[in-house]
Amino acid sequence: MTTPGGPSTVLHRPGTVGEAVASLTAEVEAGRDVRLLAGGTDLVPALRAGGRGPAAIVALRRVLELRVRGASADALTVGAGVTYADLAGWSLAPGLAAASRVVGSVQIRNCGTVGGALGSANPRGDLLTFLAAAEAEILLASARGARTTDVDGFLRDGPEPGELVTAVRVARPSGPQTYLKIGGRQAAFPALVSCALLVDRVRERVCCAVSGVATGPWRVAAAERLAGDEVDWSTGTAPLALARRFGELAAGGLRAAPPLPEDPRHPADYRVHAAGVLAARAFARCLAGVRRGDPA
Ligand SMILES: Cc1cc2nc3c(=O)[nH]c(=O)nc-3n(C[C@H](O)[C@H](O)[C@H](O)COP(=O)(O)OP(=O)(O)OC[C@H]3O[C@@H](n4cnc5c(N)ncnc54)[C@H](O)[C@@H]3O)c2cc1C
Repeated sequence: MTTPGGPSTVLHRPGTVGEAVASLTAEVEAGRDVRLLAGGTDLVPALRAGGRGPAAIVALRRVLELRVRGASADALTVGAGVTYADLAGWSLAPGLAAASRVVGSVQIRNCGTVGGALGSANPRGDLLTFLAAAEAEILLASARGARTTDVDGFLRDGPEPGELVTAVRVARPSGPQTYLKIGGRQAAFPALVSCALLVDRVRERVCCAVSGVATGPWRVAAAERLAGDEVDWSTGTAPLALARRFGELAAGGLRAAPPLPEDPRHPADYRVHAAGVLAARAFARCLAGVRRGDPA
């Protein structure tokens, strides 16, 4: 059978996570170059563009347990094989749904998965930005057993050899959530700048991550502190002036963050400004005291 890697690539098609781990482990222990294949939206173009394919591919499409999403009293768990299309209409997860709806085209959303987004670790990836704001746990499995890490740890260290992402877990929403994105032509490009914002009415805080300015999704800590102190938590509302101040503080924090490489078409000043505008707009959208239609 011809595989996405080429005629000499061995294709494993496990039916369970255990079988996937076993195939991955065997290839790693044999010292062969092995890749996981989920929806293929990133991997297949990369293999086509590159020279020789990997020695082996472990295709995850038949692993049904990775395609499950579920809700408990306090958490939502999303399997690595869940697609953006699966998430886009999930009413229990408005922020995940909003981030998924703006990914690529219908075709990309039908194929692209949560596990693939983490595996690609694009610093501007829409899902990663949301997961950073949501303080998601990443669940991984290997022959050594299961472990969890957070988004920062995952981006810093990556999966260990022989390890795959099995799911992500986020807290059940306890307030409004939104995801805003500025980009080139939708369906063809990831975000230029994006912003995920979650209101946590139980812990009385606002969590906000911005991508497209720093080297990865960046939490705007000073703006979050201002929101924690100044939002009226008895009603979950805030005045418009606070949204503006939130955006200014977000932009100020981003100026001090380690920057993405300079892009002459979209200079850092523009991206920082855009991030501040998005953060203010997201704040205004989520805090009901601000009238809809008010300029942020
Ligand atoms: C035209 C186009 C438009 C796009 N637009 C956007 C966009 O707007 N926003 C955005 O964020 N992204 C966008 N993307 C990127 C892409 O769709 C996402 O990164 C997607 O989530 C990748 O998922 P996949 O299932 O297709 O992964 P694959 O291509 O199958 O794999 C991607 C990487 O992840 C690894 N991997 C797969 N599954 C796992 C797992 N379970 N554990 C560990 N590693 C794993 C693979 O080995 C590979 O390295 C776009 C891509 C294209 C081609």
